[in-house]
Amino acid sequence: MTTLVGLNIVIAAVLGVLALLCAAASVTLGRNATLAWVSGALVNGTVQTLILTFGAGTAIEFFSAAVLAPLGFLLAGQAIAALVPGLPGRRMVIATVATLSATAVMLCWFGAPIAAQAAAFELACIVAMLDAAWRLQQRAFGQSHLLTALTIMVYVLAGFTVLRLAALPVHIGADVTFLSFSRSGSEALFLSAASLLTPIIIILLLARVITATIETFQHQSEHDSLTGLFNRRMMDAMTAEYGRSGAVIFCDIDHFKRVNDLYGHEAGDQVIRSFALLLNHSGHVAGRIGGEEFALLLPGCAAQEAADIAESIRIAFHQLTHATLPEDERLSASFGVAVHKASEPVRKAFARADSALYAAKAAGRNRVVVHNPHGHVPGTGSYGEQRAA
Ligand code: GH3
Ligand code: MG
Ligand code: MG
Repeated sequence: MTTLVGLNIVIAAVLGVLALLCAAASVTLGRNATLAWVSGALVNGTVQTLILTFGAGTAIEFFSAAVLAPLGFLLAGQAIAALVPGLPGRRMVIATVATLSATAVMLCWFGAPIAAQAAAFELACIVAMLDAAWRLQQRAFGQSHLLTALTIMVYVLAGFTVLRLAALPVHIGADVTFLSFSRSGSEALFLSAASLLTPIIIILLLARVITATIETFQHQSEHDSLTGLFNRRMMDAMTAEYGRSGAVIFCDIDHFKRVNDLYGHEAGDQVIRSFALLLNHSGHVAGRIGGEEFALLLPGCAAQEAADIAESIRIAFHQLTHATLPEDERLSASFGVAVHKASEPVRKAFARADSALYAAKAAGRNRVVVHNPHGHVPGTGSYGEQRAA
């Protein structure tokens, strides 16, 4: 008995420390909602464990089963709802769980049969869990092994609670007390299943938060925050071990400083976003490599094909109207194209494309210049429109 008490105190302490860690991690990660709710569920678990240890056989044990158990599932459900947002709110679920839990307390107060009291709080637990499981099934199941496992575990725990409810008729009778009910075989089976599955669910939840955080930081380290395109670092990394021939396009918005000066920085940002959107819609690997400078990677592309792609983007941008600029304001961009062999580093083509871009600027802007080893070819064919004054 003393060993059991000691073990329970250790479990309560572990849950308490975990709750503190989750709360601290939630704050560190800018108030991560899932971690905050997990922390709440762990505090609830700590209190329940202490009650089980020191309040067994007393009225407070009933309070733990009728109020704290449904509350724990509600808190875990909140954590799951925060993990998979975009579904209807949980107000109805919270109200139903609270009503069922309060009903259990009332039934106890008025001396209703134990089976009726238990039916009320077990139903409360089932509602909270099935809602969480449904949310996972809608938004998470099949997305990753981790999320699929989490969905299955919540369903399994809900299934055990349904079985627990189904076992209630065994406890119908005048001589059944809460003590005999809570020490019964079916309750012991449920509590064992719950104490095995709950930590697994908590661990899966924490693992999901960790992987989502890593994915977010990884995305941030590879992408430009203004446009969502790859950033310079990622473009360099992608071309470092390329190993195939192709083309690169460098482009730069013309007289962009003027946009900022005339219409403000926010309007300038919007122009950058619009240009990035055009690049993105081209379907090629696009990155923002400077303020209003961008690059496209075209593996397997020949010079003419790359020049055609650049030209279509140039025309599309020049025709674009900008919501943040006057109706008749048209902007332009200049483009430098260079090809590279499979055997040479792409960064050499970057330098050539940059030099072709410089030539496009020098030749009057709003044009595509293809680099060739014998000198630039500015504005060949249709690639030579002068910037509208
Ligand atoms: P050019 O035709 O020769 O390219 O002239 P330009 O005015 O476009 O080029 P310049 O290099 O003189 O000016 C680029 C400007 O872009 C200066 C800088 O303040 C602005 N800029 C850089 N990054 C951003 C950004 O993220 N948002 C906004 N709004 N402006 C930016
Ligand atoms: Mg510019
Ligand atoms: Mg520039």
